Amino acid sequence: MEKERRLIIAGNWKMNKTVAESIDLVNGLKRELANVKEVDIVVCPAYTALSEVSKSILDSQNIRLGAQNMSENNVGAFTGEIAAVMLKEFSVRYVILGHSERRQYQKESDELIARKALAAHTASLKPIVCVGETLAEREGGLMEKVLETQVRGSLAGLSREQMEETIVAYEPVWAIGTGKTASSAQAQEAHAFIRAQLVKLFDETTARRVRIQYGGSVKAANARELMGQPDVDGALVGGAALEVRSFADIIKNSI
Ligand code: PEP
Repeated sequence: MEKERRLIIAGNWKMNKTVAESIDLVNGLKRELANVKEVDIVVCPAYTALSEVSKSILDSQNIRLGAQNMSENNVGAFTGEIAAVMLKEFSVRYVILGHSERRQYQKESDELIARKALAAHTASLKPIVCVGETLAEREGGLMEKVLETQVRGSLAGLSREQMEETIVAYEPVWAIGTGKTASSAQAQEAHAFIRAQLVKLFDETTARRVRIQYGGSVKAANARELMGQPDVDGALVGGAALEVRSFADIIKNSI
């Protein structure tokens, strides 16, 4: 079945890989995925490897660069921070915002994530905005409430045009790095709920155009079924994005 929206599959390398290892990984992906035209492929290395990975994919037709975070500020006295314009220097096109690890360890709020998303758009970067409930929230019957709050808060202030160029990643926290994947039915239910929130916040046309990725222990074995769901438009992959074979197989199995 032809998907309504083009799939986007991104690898979040997190705090893994030296520069040399990053170059090896991306070169392997270039070789394995050279003929894939049906999917937007994004790799998100650590900041320190952006420059070299960017050079490695200069001649790639289908692999694009993403960052894992950025500052909500454009310039100035913000020690340790990286601005959107600095990412643009390395031809970064996408930026992951509000990953659950940042929400947990850096206490990032929806309000901060929304400011980052606006700053990303101002620099013509496409944000990948992450939302998702914890196990306690799901078991407490709070999944919809949490998703509604995160979607509303993290996307506040975006215009319809900006929203269309924003990717939402549904990442149930209980499925990240745990080996526990949401079933395809659970993923579809959450994605449809998120899209319904986008209808309320923006409009039907905008909501229909937004791509919603699933993230949480995606692997080659479950990619096809997850990507087959009508509201699942791609994947944000952690652990399985760190090896050529597993990431390439996820992409090939999704087509
Ligand atoms: C992630 O951290 O975005 C993620 C989905 O990780 P994993 O695939 O390892 O569960």
